[in-house]
Amino acid sequence: MCDISRRGFLTGASAFLSLAAEAELLRGPIPAGRAEDAKEDLLAPDVYFHEGQVSDTADAVCNNGWIMFEDYVLVIDANFPAGAKLIISKIRALTDKPIRFAFDTHHHGDHAYGNQVFVENGGVPVAHTGVIEEMKRYETGYYENKPDRWEGAIKERADLKTTKLKPPSALFSKDLIFDDNKHRVELIHLGVAHTHGDAVAWLPKERILFTGDMCVNGPYNFVGDGDVGKWVETLDMARKLDAKVVCTGHGPRSTGRVLDDQQAFFKTLREQVGALMTNVRPEEAKARIETIRATLKSNAQIARFVSDRGAGSDDGFPSQVVKVYEELTSNKLAALVPCSAFSRIPFLTSSLRFST
Ligand SMILES: [Zn+2]
Repeated sequence: MCDISRRGFLTGASAFLSLAAEAELLRGPIPAGRAEDAKEDLLAPDVYFHEGQVSDTADAVCNNGWIMFEDYVLVIDANFPAGAKLIISKIRALTDKPIRFAFDTHHHGDHAYGNQVFVENGGVPVAHTGVIEEMKRYETGYYENKPDRWEGAIKERADLKTTKLKPPSALFSKDLIFDDNKHRVELIHLGVAHTHGDAVAWLPKERILFTGDMCVNGPYNFVGDGDVGKWVETLDMARKLDAKVVCTGHGPRSTGRVLDDQQAFFKTLREQVGALMTNVRPEEAKARIETIRATLKSNAQIARFVSDRGAGSDDGFPSQVVKVYEELTSNKLAALVPCSAFSRIPFLTSSLRFST
């Protein structure tokens, strides 16, 4: 029989979260190295969550979920190829139903580069149409024979050498619903956020939301491909779903409160950048980045989203500030700020370099 961690506390579709359970879910980021050994969590009957590891060498980097329908399995996020194989092995330990669909929440490598592995195991990669638009923008090696992200990533991860980029081939423009009368999963594009092609997986019966990187639980926000102003609005759409369990793209799963906290982080960041940086010369603006970091870090609701390796380090925070600054002004700051976290490989900046 399956060996499933019951760290998950939900016993059914109408499960109730105790305060103690909420406290557990809202804990801070776990230390690197622990999640690799973690079992999947059973969130509700036939609904599973697997937490990825905050490391660029881990097999499974992003978080995954899967739902076992009557006739097939739907997987949320394809992960890296090694992560895809890990997740498939975990599903195979539970059921022999075909793994029919792999839903990419967005185009980043740690969520979509495992697509080919799922295809070879009988699956079809599914995504919002914006994922293809983003891939055409950033995966020019596939579309135009101009090396870009995949070609950069293959130097970093051995598992990419044995596979190939496989863009999703089942696409939806607004939403796509899987419903066999027992389970219902709605894939929904709520708006621009972490990228221009984000979509979430919403389970209305269980009130479980899989967000992809539209929401993370820790200092893992890569903002280079998105729009922070629109991200705040899109998080409002996610909050309106009134989820009881939120499985973020990275970091421990949580409750609906993580959406509030993620949104508060971006709102406060925008307010701080607007107040302290937009009316001064770029050189002065640059000097205020660490002031803003300290302000955000002192706010208990949002501190866990703030990288804190220290002033001047390439830990992601300066890149977040620069992105917001450039959204709010017509000035460019990237040339003044050491933003190598704006690398060509965003999943590494989101999962490793942004980590504490
Ligand atoms: Zn991402």
